[in-house]
Amino acid sequence: MDPRRISKPIKIGDVTIGGGARIIVQSMTNTDTSDTRSTIYQIKQLEECGCEVIRVAVPDMQAAQALAEIKERISIPLIADIHFDYRLALAALKAGVDGLRLNPGNIGEPERVKMVVLVAKERKVPIRIGLNAGSLPKNLDPKLTTTQKMVAAALEQVKLLESLDFDLIKLSLKAFDVPTTIEAYREIAARTSYPLHIGITEAGTPRTGVFRSSIGIGTLLYMGIGDTIRVSLTAHPREEVFAGYEILKSLNLRQHGPILVSCPSCGRTEVNIIALAEMVEKELTMILKPIKVAVMGCIVNGPDEARDADIGIACGKGRGVLFRKGEKIGVVEEKDFLTALMQEVDKL
Ligand code: SF4
Repeated sequence: MDPRRISKPIKIGDVTIGGGARIIVQSMTNTDTSDTRSTIYQIKQLEECGCEVIRVAVPDMQAAQALAEIKERISIPLIADIHFDYRLALAALKAGVDGLRLNPGNIGEPERVKMVVLVAKERKVPIRIGLNAGSLPKNLDPKLTTTQKMVAAALEQVKLLESLDFDLIKLSLKAFDVPTTIEAYREIAARTSYPLHIGITEAGTPRTGVFRSSIGIGTLLYMGIGDTIRVSLTAHPREEVFAGYEILKSLNLRQHGPILVSCPSCGRTEVNIIALAEMVEKELTMILKPIKVAVMGCIVNGPDEARDADIGIACGKGRGVLFRKGEKIGVVEEKDFLTALMQEVDKL
């Protein structure tokens, strides 16, 4: 794995992004922001499963006015997502948000951008310049590739903010196309030192979107690029948080909750290992401790993998051998597999 790119750190509320800090998992609510009750409820659900920074859409003044109450009642930093209307950005800043995501290019007149930037600077609120391949400025050279256009637009907007003596900047250059996204981030990472929020936009439902995101985000992280991630999914946002941590755990970049090792099952399997693994996985969602649990389907490869885990079971016909930290601790009947395994997990 390549060494991490050390970016210029910024603070979103009390969370540091960049500068070698841990990679932060973000998500975005899908409630109507002006419905504060539902929005706060959803943010609290996301906090519980490990979301570290939350973004909410601010499409109108009603949503902007809801931000103060939302901010007051949640524990993680709040980012306002704004397009086109500088007055919404000013209202969001006044409401006390910790970050803005906007596209200075679609805010219009330089005077309007300036007004937003001056207030953000005074309040030390970072701005994410969030570019999407599908909504790039129209004035770019048509001969450029999509990747080149994304990078050119991002640099242009960085220049605009820097010209206003503002450097609390974070960048994102997202596309649905994975290679385009990877290339765009690779290029921008080499050309600026600002922290990068990475993701694949409109990645799809969990069934397909998790793959696109894992490949895109995973490749970038492996290249040392990325300070914060969001897995965009057409699903409840808690799925985004779960997927984000799984990507980070797969690359050993973060520990968060349990890791389940389970065998794929084969002709040697003599118990219903698929059902057992699914039940164990469900039980483990309640646990936040980073432990490794193995559910194996036979005595050929099972014992070795089970031994390597904090808690493991290698299942044979009608019976299974339980392991704790590599030590065999007992033999259990098939009907007791789940209970016995979870009891050992609880003891940890
Ligand atoms: S652990 Fe055993 S049952 Fe599971 S896939 Fe490997 S050989 Fe087959």
